[in-house]
Amino acid sequence: MAIDTSKIDLSEIQTLSEVQKTETNETDKTVKNIPKSQEFPFELELQGRTVKFRTWKVKDKENLIKAKTNYDKKKALVFNCLENPNEALDYLEYEYVLFNIRNKSLPNYVTKYVIRCSNCGTVYNCNVHFSDILEKNDRKYTEIKSGNYSIKVGNIKNQEFYENMIMNITDNEQKILIDFILHITEFNSRIDFSAEELIKIFDSMDIETFEDIFKQWNSMRFSYNTIGYCTCPECDYEDRFDFKDVDNFYPKSWFNIGGI
Ligand SMILES: [Zn+2]
Repeated sequence: MAIDTSKIDLSEIQTLSEVQKTETNETDKTVKNIPKSQEFPFELELQGRTVKFRTWKVKDKENLIKAKTNYDKKKALVFNCLENPNEALDYLEYEYVLFNIRNKSLPNYVTKYVIRCSNCGTVYNCNVHFSDILEKNDRKYTEIKSGNYSIKVGNIKNQEFYENMIMNITDNEQKILIDFILHITEFNSRIDFSAEELIKIFDSMDIETFEDIFKQWNSMRFSYNTIGYCTCPECDYEDRFDFKDVDNFYPKSWFNIGGI
């Protein structure tokens, strides 16, 4: 996964923060009276719900610097910027909202990549504007059926529970499984199960059934992509890239050594 909040250094938005600081000081007395709709002027649709959000402010960067856990960092970067700060988001939804906040906070930010043309070998600069390439795949949750199993899934309900479950998992396979389990609302007509119980059931499941369930899950879960194109200035060859998989997906200065 390209997103690693543990390495974020927001020095790149310093300029923006400074601008907002000045504005906040000047209008300090009226800030409290801003209606919510103006405080959270942006919105996006996410798996049947509307998420309203604002851009980053100085206080968000301060909270990010102070953050001790990954969950604290996620609050500073995303949850505190939402009209409903308790909105429960799975990790892909979180990343997608993070990008939207980033794109609105840095509307003119362009990331430069050095590309080697796979046709003629020319090395050139390709500028990527993430607002242009970020694309979501909203889907509908339906019932998963495989073998003796019928599983109903829905949006994550409890942010704190989800974040605490997912926070310290470093193994990607395990993270994907826990994330799936926390989407389950009904398992073989039962709603009174614990996450631990489901983990045990999945651990002892036949591989084939498990694969089938996950194939169905992946076809209905929310996802997004970051596919962009770069054109070689020498031969006009157009190369397609998924920028999620490129090392410097983020501006380097965001993910500095920084020590955050
Ligand atoms: Zn070329």
